[in-house]
Amino acid sequence: MSMNILLLNAGSSSIKYQVLDMTDERVLATGLIQKIGGAGSTLEHTVGGEEFSLAQDFADHTEALAAMTAMFDAHGPEMSEIRAVGHRTVHGGDRFDHTVLITDEVIQTLVDLSPLAPLHNPPGITAIRAAQAVLPGVPHVAVFDTAFFAHLPAEAYTYAIDRETAQRLKIRRYGFHGTSHNYVSHTVAETLGRPYEDLKMIVLHLGNGASVSAIKDGKPIETSMGLTPLQGLMMGTRSGDIDPGVHAYLYRSGLSMDEIDTLLNKKSGLLGLAGVNDMRDVSDKAATGDPDAQLALDVYVHRLVSYIGSYIALLNGVDAVAFTAGVGENAANIRELVISRLDNLGFHLDPERNAVRSKEPRLISTDDSPVKVLVVPTNEELQMAREVKEVVAG
Ligand code: ADP
Repeated sequence: MSMNILLLNAGSSSIKYQVLDMTDERVLATGLIQKIGGAGSTLEHTVGGEEFSLAQDFADHTEALAAMTAMFDAHGPEMSEIRAVGHRTVHGGDRFDHTVLITDEVIQTLVDLSPLAPLHNPPGITAIRAAQAVLPGVPHVAVFDTAFFAHLPAEAYTYAIDRETAQRLKIRRYGFHGTSHNYVSHTVAETLGRPYEDLKMIVLHLGNGASVSAIKDGKPIETSMGLTPLQGLMMGTRSGDIDPGVHAYLYRSGLSMDEIDTLLNKKSGLLGLAGVNDMRDVSDKAATGDPDAQLALDVYVHRLVSYIGSYIALLNGVDAVAFTAGVGENAANIRELVISRLDNLGFHLDPERNAVRSKEPRLISTDDSPVKVLVVPTNEELQMAREVKEVVAG
């Protein structure tokens, strides 16, 4: 019997999907639906190495998913062979510490948690309802970005603010990108041939969003994102760490709350400093001598080095550091800039290994480097599908 799992990753106007055959973890199809709810919606579907596209306006997620199922019927994979649907869900708050079967009660809890993630949870809920409408006969499962970090130590997740306020409004560090940190840290242990529980690891997920985690005794003990995905590293368009006093200062200077939110989430980071948010463009501009782009790179690297140093202290040493996601997997220049500043801490980069481009997990430190440095391409869909399969199998 087939064990095909459909994975959905919904934003407010887009849905990414993938179908995996979990009998052998093969990708059967991938797709991207864009501009939902506006003019010029598109659907791109890839199956068996062939690409199909459709330009047709989708008023909402239900129409978009109906077009996706029509695409499946026309070109495969078979809709009737989909055994379960996994939904990437950004915020599980303090209610979900693992992947769960979606019930009406789970949906209500997600609605209750929406104020914690106003940009992410509402489109996720819309997509769950739409997917239940087009695929009513199969189990739907929620995989949370926060779940991997649900049991951080209290000293790591607690903010030093008034306890009553924090408890009433559920203000604490939650952490995000958990599916990726989970997948990558386990792949590090497999690649090194060492037991997961024995390794002290730092995972650097550097995509458009970026976060760091520290893992020890088989568990994450710290991560850089917080109540929201705004905290921590400098990112493509997010500021990362900033004096909390800046919010009040901006507000008193005349910006509205929404303007402050937009400034820090969408107009900051690489975009704010260099005018472009893609690391390739920032690096290209810096190479031509653009001082703003150079400063953006310097701040990006400075922040990474200081997080790595802080996590080495929390772990009381480190065995392995892994780079992942768009920047981490592809930007050899960033890896080199970061690792070269840590040579007195036992990080020795092998320049030839660092220059290799590959989809495989790989070591980029020298054989005698005390700290192993790796590049591990993340695979959040595979990790999600494994978890969905487990939930469905009961
Ligand atoms: P997301 O966080 O949206 O899932 P990704 O993990 O795919 O994104 O990362 C996207 C980012 O990765 C891009 O915005 C870009 O900055 C960076 N990136 C992708 N390819 C390269 C490359 N070859 N060199 C440098 N940076 C890259």
